[in-house]
Amino acid sequence: MDHFLYRDGALHAEDVPLAQIAAEVGTPFYVYSTATLLRHFEVLDEALNGMDHLVCYAMKAASNQAILKTLAQAGAGMDVVSGGEYLRAKAAGVPGDKIVFSGVGKTADEIHMALTGGIRQFNVESEPEMEVLNRVAGEVGVIAPITIRVNPDVDAKTHAKIATGKSENKFGIPIARAREVYAMAAAMANLEVIGIDVHIGSQLTDLAPFELAYQKVAELTETLRADGHTIRRLDLGGGLGIPYARSNEAPPLPKDYGDLIKRTVGHLGCEIEIEPGRLIAGNSGCMVSEVIYVKSGEGRDFLILDGAMNDLIRPAMYEAHHDIVPVIEPAPGVEQVPYDIVGPVCESGDTFAKQRMMPPLAAKDLVAFRSTGAYGAVMSSEYNTRPLIPEVLVKGDQYAVIRRRPTFDEMINRDSIPEWL
Ligand SMILES: *Cc1c(COP(=O)(O)O)cnc(C)c1O
Repeated sequence: MDHFLYRDGALHAEDVPLAQIAAEVGTPFYVYSTATLLRHFEVLDEALNGMDHLVCYAMKAASNQAILKTLAQAGAGMDVVSGGEYLRAKAAGVPGDKIVFSGVGKTADEIHMALTGGIRQFNVESEPEMEVLNRVAGEVGVIAPITIRVNPDVDAKTHAKIATGKSENKFGIPIARAREVYAMAAAMANLEVIGIDVHIGSQLTDLAPFELAYQKVAELTETLRADGHTIRRLDLGGGLGIPYARSNEAPPLPKDYGDLIKRTVGHLGCEIEIEPGRLIAGNSGCMVSEVIYVKSGEGRDFLILDGAMNDLIRPAMYEAHHDIVPVIEPAPGVEQVPYDIVGPVCESGDTFAKQRMMPPLAAKDLVAFRSTGAYGAVMSSEYNTRPLIPEVLVKGDQYAVIRRRPTFDEMINRDSIPEWL
């Protein structure tokens, strides 16, 4: 469910026509719906009702301050994976005790920042990290609350680049070594073991891998408790998938995911954390782009857009599908034609879709890429010296630019010239 719908023949974000934003902000741009963000957060939060829990939004999915503030005000915690994200969460008003620090490569500086600024817990991913954390906590004079991320060796059945729970992935410690590593942690003076963390991958469209992983976490909880550890919090990660091709995909419902959590770990009496990113932000955002040219090729027509792979890398990077829809609603029964939909960047990889059936389009028409709220703007770059595109947040009939497009002068003046030139 989202709030991007045709009304009176024009695609709207909530009560704002996308064409109006395009006229004022220029294309391409990202636009997010507040109502959709909040709805997704609330549906997940409600799915865990009856259990002591905190939904920690994985802010790497979309980390604009306005988005963070929207979710934080609704009660969300944050899952951060870098010092920069930690500072972003704090800047958006999230208290330290609602920020979880994940990631395989936390540096001593990042750890120091989180320990002095306040943190809910570190999800530790290796023994060397544990040693650094113990040392820095000693220097700061605090006890660091930790879970240890275990790798359950479960096939998440998702794209290889976003699967994280198989033994060959770089994430977590092998579950078979968990007892040994928990014993090491318990012996460290400046660490407090409070729970277990697991995250098996992203864009999971089947609940079975979650079930397998959470069963393993439940067994491990009992084993570690028998070893004398306090396991009072389970961080069950993120990864729940969303429908990208609306016509033929039906990923699991949050309610069923919540029931699965209750069934697998509910009896343990632990506080539950989840770290959804994509499920909250994905369908809350669109990228709007304008057709520059319609070019006839040999046996195929190209729609050349002003948006490109630097603005939205998911199709090039993950072979991802995004529904692409005209901003003016096509007349009923209009005959669709196939297009290769591409951007202006000088790489064949800058292709959003091949032979995609669309109503006939012309230069200056607007199209919206659906489901680009997660891993869209945050993964964009200035490749080809294309400015980072603006982000816009809609709430009801209001909208605001929440990140403006940089000027070319700003971009060029970030470089500095050595004195010998
Ligand atoms: C990326 C990531 C998430 C979020 O994944 P989604 O698929 O966006 O829900 C959660 N936790 C960790 C540790 C991650 O790396």
